[in-house]
Amino acid sequence: MTNSAPSHLLPVFARVDLGFERGEGAWLISTSGERYLDFTSGVAVNALGHCHPHLVAALQEQATKLWHMSNLFRSPDGDKLAARLCEQTFADLVFFCNSGAEAMECAIKVARRYHAAKGHSDRYRIVTFEGAFHGRTLGTLAATGSAKYLEGFGPPLDGFDQVAHGDLEAVKKAIGPQTAAILIEPVQGEGGVRSAPHAFYKALRQLCDDKGLLLIFDEVQTGMGRTGDLFAYKRLGVTPDIMSLAKALGGGFPIGACLATAEAASGMTPGSHGSTFGGNPLAIASANAVLDVMLKPGFFDHVQKVSLLLKQKLASVADRYPAVLAEVRGEGLLIGVKAVVPSGDLVAALRDQKLLTVGAGDNVVRFLAPLIVSEAEIEQSVQSLERACIALSGDKKKAAG
Ligand SMILES: *Cc1c(COP(=O)(O)O)cnc(C)c1O
Repeated sequence: MTNSAPSHLLPVFARVDLGFERGEGAWLISTSGERYLDFTSGVAVNALGHCHPHLVAALQEQATKLWHMSNLFRSPDGDKLAARLCEQTFADLVFFCNSGAEAMECAIKVARRYHAAKGHSDRYRIVTFEGAFHGRTLGTLAATGSAKYLEGFGPPLDGFDQVAHGDLEAVKKAIGPQTAAILIEPVQGEGGVRSAPHAFYKALRQLCDDKGLLLIFDEVQTGMGRTGDLFAYKRLGVTPDIMSLAKALGGGFPIGACLATAEAASGMTPGSHGSTFGGNPLAIASANAVLDVMLKPGFFDHVQKVSLLLKQKLASVADRYPAVLAEVRGEGLLIGVKAVVPSGDLVAALRDQKLLTVGAGDNVVRFLAPLIVSEAEIEQSVQSLERACIALSGDKKKAAG
């Protein structure tokens, strides 16, 4: 299990010394055969758990037919996926890519080009929010705006005006003649499972309508069922003009998408954007299979039922261990537990109890159960949390004494 050989990987990840070789539903099995309940879901990617039989079958079948052919030709399955995504959303048009950052790059380009095509190429600025996360390319890093991630990489791409999250007056002040769009996550994932009141998103929509701006929702993390509906904007009751998707879209196979209304995308013409791998047949087959499962009647009834159960049970543990846990928040199965102890200590203590979770900003630990999680697995996770809290309380007493 230990990495005795020197690593040849760029040391950008603070990796845990724990190797996994297999996954089954909500479980990961380590190289030494230990079973861990996986509430990271590969950071909100494996929405249907590991090796879902329908996804495995779809990918195996596609692997015998066609792997790649580029965007020089039409793909009937890609057309089908785009049509299904549009049928389920506000969108008329879809661009396929390979990651969340790429989906966001496309969203930014679509918004800028919209105004340029109308003769306003000076309208390229986008209002963004503190605590946001939009990706690690140079463009999406500038949108993310976090000093920690930007440091040492030269001047950030110009064109982003960041304001405090949830501060409508600050948004109004930031909007000027060069503003093209407002960009926000319906729930900030990496930022610590933070959301604003629904009225805030409604006010953003209104501002966009009043001032001719485009509203961009980054649903890379919230989309594909994570918040208890296929897309978080439906729960907000606020419709964007452009939306980015990735993470759970392929259920574990890399694929991203940028969705837009025909009007918002009106600046995009042949040659204005592209991607070699975008719309890759294996990725398309995976995403179509994910939709097959999620669109089955009753799928979201289950998600809502288990998410309510998990949230209630987590909140009851938080009540009993106020020296360890501060708060439980989030929507659907995008749940954040704000810790009193350092969040990294809680993640480690949970791992000792064979429960895998993932940290986020604001000292939060994310419980990202797969959407197919069972009630029994929820119960197990809560017991793990309780044991972790006991262990951490003991540590605290020892430190104090
Ligand atoms: C993960 C994430 C991204 C970046 O996705 P990558 O696939 O890592 O490029 C962008 N936006 C949000 C909201 C995310 O959670």
